Amino acid sequence: MSLMRQFQSTNHIIKRLYKSGNALGNQIHTQNRLFKEKEDDFIQLEIKEELLKFPNVWLRDNCQCNQCYHPTAHSRILDWNKFNLDPKPVEVVKDENSVQVTWDDGHKSSYNLNWLQFRSFTPRHQKTYTETIYKPVKKVWHGSDFEKVCSKHDYNQILESDEALYNWLQDLSTYGIALIENTPDSETALDGIVNRVAFPRKTHYGFKFIVQHVTNTSNVAYLSSNLQMHTDLPYYEYCPGTNMLHCLVQTLGDGGENMLADCHYTAKYMAQHHPEQFKLLTETEVEWRDVGVEHGKEFFKLHRSPVICLDNHGEIVRINFSIPQRGSQFPGPIENVKPWYEAHSLFYELSHKFVAHFKTKAGNILVFDNIRVLHGRNQYEDKGDNVRKLIGAYVDWDEIYSKLRCLKVKLELEEGVQ
Ligand SMILES: [Zn+2]
Repeated sequence: MSLMRQFQSTNHIIKRLYKSGNALGNQIHTQNRLFKEKEDDFIQLEIKEELLKFPNVWLRDNCQCNQCYHPTAHSRILDWNKFNLDPKPVEVVKDENSVQVTWDDGHKSSYNLNWLQFRSFTPRHQKTYTETIYKPVKKVWHGSDFEKVCSKHDYNQILESDEALYNWLQDLSTYGIALIENTPDSETALDGIVNRVAFPRKTHYGFKFIVQHVTNTSNVAYLSSNLQMHTDLPYYEYCPGTNMLHCLVQTLGDGGENMLADCHYTAKYMAQHHPEQFKLLTETEVEWRDVGVEHGKEFFKLHRSPVICLDNHGEIVRINFSIPQRGSQFPGPIENVKPWYEAHSLFYELSHKFVAHFKTKAGNILVFDNIRVLHGRNQYEDKGDNVRKLIGAYVDWDEIYSKLRCLKVKLELEEGVQ
């Protein structure tokens, strides 16, 4: 649903709820908003030559005193049973760095001006916060730009320097891809990188997985044949966010190179040029599936979700795509089947049109956004001692964004965040 449609339907519900003609209902009907803005519902403050408005109820809810907010738990502790939805300031005193408010019940609050400015309700401030603290803005790419967007980072620098760690994670969240070089030739080297961020995400394949040719495998990734482009683990409701593949041994022969495609580019292209097919891929639920035995334990995973998942703002939040791990159940109506297959096929073709080819070397860790970038691999053949071997691990986006924010505070890139 588009933002505008959502807004309209929300308003519609509000109007219906208050249609009885009481004062509030009339306000909604005539002014198209829930509450009439009254001058005394806000405190206006000039901060750094800008006049900013802060609602009384929000200020009181966010009082930073020790009775209302626990400084080390960084959590609100005020008693909601006693909360007044209509507090009135009786005195407002502003000095150079802070403002003190005395409320009509006698409670006193103090707010740092930087802290307040950071939480300002103007669209400009809200946008800045969203893009700098909430989540970095994603930049889409075509395969022909891969060399430019896939930044290179040094293994030891990431371990030793917070700035190097920050730069790597920032690039990864912006482009959905980044390469780490000079990784030691060890099966545990990847742990150093994963632990530097937070911790690995476990799946039924374990904390780490080895990608090597195995004849009687539980997963098609463990074959040396062509591996079609896909996202990993679409059958998880809580899908692992990033995939880190450490190349220990690369094949010396032909093949073994990765194919990588930014699905946000593909999806945006489809939204513009093929809106009907785009809509089908955003609305039709598919059943993703993985069945087998690993480490002696059986699994039977199912998750229903569209190929392109959008949030309430129409932004892409997750891509699911895997031909081997798409189940044969089709949860939607029968008439949607053929059109959906056509849309799915178009998505597949376009992803190949926009693809990048890249062959990792021993010592590389290829890191990519598993719910954004499709990845695949060309067929290869192990010869003699040259046995291609990768070690993989997943790290969730929650942990990466969290680390990025901690580093922003630590490196003093943003003041007044917490
Ligand atoms: Zn307080």
